[in-house]
Amino acid sequence: MATPMTASQFVKALEDEGVDVREYRSWRTHNRNHKGAWGPVHGVVIHHTAGSNSLALCYDGMAGLPGPLCHTHLSKSGVASMLSAGRANHAGTIAQNAYNAMLNEASTHPRPSSSEPVDGNRATYGIEIENLGNGRDFYPQKQYDAAVRWAAAICRFHGWGADSVIGHREGTTRKIDPKGPIGSANGPQFDMDQFRKDVAARLKAKDEEPKPTTPSKPTTPTKPAKPATPAKPTVDLSNLTAAARRDPGLKQGGTTHPADVKLVEAALKAEGLLSAAYAKDGSFGTLTRTAYAAWQRRCGYTGSAADGIPGKASLEKLGAKRGFKVKA
Ligand SMILES: [Zn+2]
Repeated sequence: MATPMTASQFVKALEDEGVDVREYRSWRTHNRNHKGAWGPVHGVVIHHTAGSNSLALCYDGMAGLPGPLCHTHLSKSGVASMLSAGRANHAGTIAQNAYNAMLNEASTHPRPSSSEPVDGNRATYGIEIENLGNGRDFYPQKQYDAAVRWAAAICRFHGWGADSVIGHREGTTRKIDPKGPIGSANGPQFDMDQFRKDVAARLKAKDEEPKPTTPSKPTTPTKPAKPATPAKPTVDLSNLTAAARRDPGLKQGGTTHPADVKLVEAALKAEGLLSAAYAKDGSFGTLTRTAYAAWQRRCGYTGSAADGIPGKASLEKLGAKRGFKVKA
């Protein structure tokens, strides 16, 4: 039995997941609970607004469809405005097969059948992501990442996996959302299987975070490379490049692969390229990118080859000098 989150639990879960949360008007008591059940909850539905400047509309609703129209509205810049902690008019009815797949966390989500006996507004949380929905308006990476975090936060609270997340178009044949390219006008289209993969990765990464696994740090700036010891820590190149691509777009200090990043930050600090204040946050933010770009130039790279996204050769060179191995 999944009892819905309270308003305070909702905010805390989102903030713990790194979402930039704003509390909008009287959202804590703004709901449709007087019109039907709220809970037990079994999943998460992703929507696009099909408009712009939709925040007030999502709160108030419209003629024939009273608000709240979702639990959270997500702006283009990734700000999550809370609009309800109760029953909301976001999903309407849902097909039984789609509901079952969500409820049972099936690894595949079927095309929704045409009969829709399930009250989606009772059973699911909904987010409205600001997007025109015309297939050309794109979701900035920061907005997409915030949506992933939003869904992951709810799944984590309830102990659900990523297969508890569906797109509105997966719940009903009446809808096409979410739709549109990710990251840029030429980016890949919003794909719910990919979205679930991203939520799953997020759930897994954060689960691993609390463990005090930071390997022994190869710091000591005054000494050159330590003689090889069997305990050399390893930096995973793909983790590192993923962090370098994502972290600058996250909230200040946001992390993707902190263990890998911390090793490299320590090495950049040892090289005199990164100040101590930023050398241990595990976030490959803008300053770390700038420091890494300086290392690349030191290695002889120029132009786009010195863009601060680590490559294998420059990273191996840094590791050889500062005491870590590279897994490529
Ligand atoms: Zn929708």
